[in-house]
Amino acid sequence: MARFNTQLVHGLPVHDNDTGAVNPPIYNSSTYTFPFVGASPRYDYARSGNPTRDFLEQQIAQLEHGTRGFAFASGLAAIHAVLSIFKPGDRIVAGDNVYGGSYSQLNDHFTRWGLQLTTVNTSDDFERLERAISGNGDTAPAKAVYFETITNPLLQVNDVNRIAAIAHRYGALVIVDNTFVTPYNQQPLDLGADVVLHSATKYLAGHSDVIAGLVVTSSEDLAERIYFAQNRLGGILPPQECDAVRRGIQTLALRMDRQQKNASAVAHYLLKHPLVSKVHYPGLGEGGDRELAAKGLKGAGGVLSFEVKEGVDPAVVLNNLKVFRLAVSLGAVESLAELPARMTHFEMPREERLKVGITDELIRLSIGIEDVDDLIEDLGQALEKAYEALNDHQTIDGFDQQIDKLLS
Ligand SMILES: *Cc1c(COP(=O)(O)O)cnc(C)c1O
Repeated sequence: MARFNTQLVHGLPVHDNDTGAVNPPIYNSSTYTFPFVGASPRYDYARSGNPTRDFLEQQIAQLEHGTRGFAFASGLAAIHAVLSIFKPGDRIVAGDNVYGGSYSQLNDHFTRWGLQLTTVNTSDDFERLERAISGNGDTAPAKAVYFETITNPLLQVNDVNRIAAIAHRYGALVIVDNTFVTPYNQQPLDLGADVVLHSATKYLAGHSDVIAGLVVTSSEDLAERIYFAQNRLGGILPPQECDAVRRGIQTLALRMDRQQKNASAVAHYLLKHPLVSKVHYPGLGEGGDRELAAKGLKGAGGVLSFEVKEGVDPAVVLNNLKVFRLAVSLGAVESLAELPARMTHFEMPREERLKVGITDELIRLSIGIEDVDDLIEDLGQALEKAYEALNDHQTIDGFDQQIDKLLS
């Protein structure tokens, strides 16, 4: 059987093409002819199935080691389809710092449809997690646990294996958003997850040019339920977009290798910077690699975040970046920077935000595939501008010497 990198490039042919074209065709057809009345052709109407989509769906199922894959018009459409398999009264336990749009879909949409929601920290307090899942005798056990492998923007690592073991004790399904990690760094289904999903907008497509979502199931029963939701709710990914994601996936490993290498170098640079008080990047520090491996991760990904010291204005840093683009989203070839408190997480009440550790000084970086020295120089000059913008009487002890040492 083909190995992972070969799977990225070739996928699984859908056997629809005898022209010799090396790329699968893009079928712009909403409907398909029946050979005769009463026939049941493989394709009849493109909401139900399309060969271009089939290619991508088979490929993601293969990469995530699942039974079947499904492509949706966005990550949130994928999540919507997955959560729609539950019914009123069912309780879902969700990680307490999942993607804002996912949280809002659960909290503002699905609770209106009768789902109950319990949020809890899924990365370090397993006793509390178990109480939340079991219902602790007060309510029925949860029907599902929903979390992200690496959280945003603080990059906490969730232990899929451990969470799945607890959830399965109470019969709860384990749904993992693997957007930040990708199957290149971890295949959650191998660690006990039942459903894995992606905002393919990010690393899988990888070029900031398409919005897409993917879902992979671990069993045929779940696949049937997700297929029903895909076909009946109708949030499918159009063929052009399917092809854009397919093309992105071909270079996933190459991009991720460079992004991780760059991200690690940037994280180590920031750790030593006198204006930086904290750096969040999985596996940073001694024994970090072992810690990641223990949680089943082959790499830490390309997103990191850091906090500037009190008094330093993070907006000045961001407004002075030249190589990094000031933008939300992540996982693409170009480096992006943003201020969670005022951009990706502005909807979160400040108190809640601070409680989960998203401070006003926190800057998030999505590291691209540029020359890392350009990224580091860019951050250096922007931090220097922020230093110059400090009040005259406000200085940071030894700043100049520390900067000199860093640059030497
Ligand atoms: C972006 C993102 C989503 C939502 O995906 P869209 O493609 O924007 O709908 C969900 N989860 C995570 C972790 C994300 O980063």
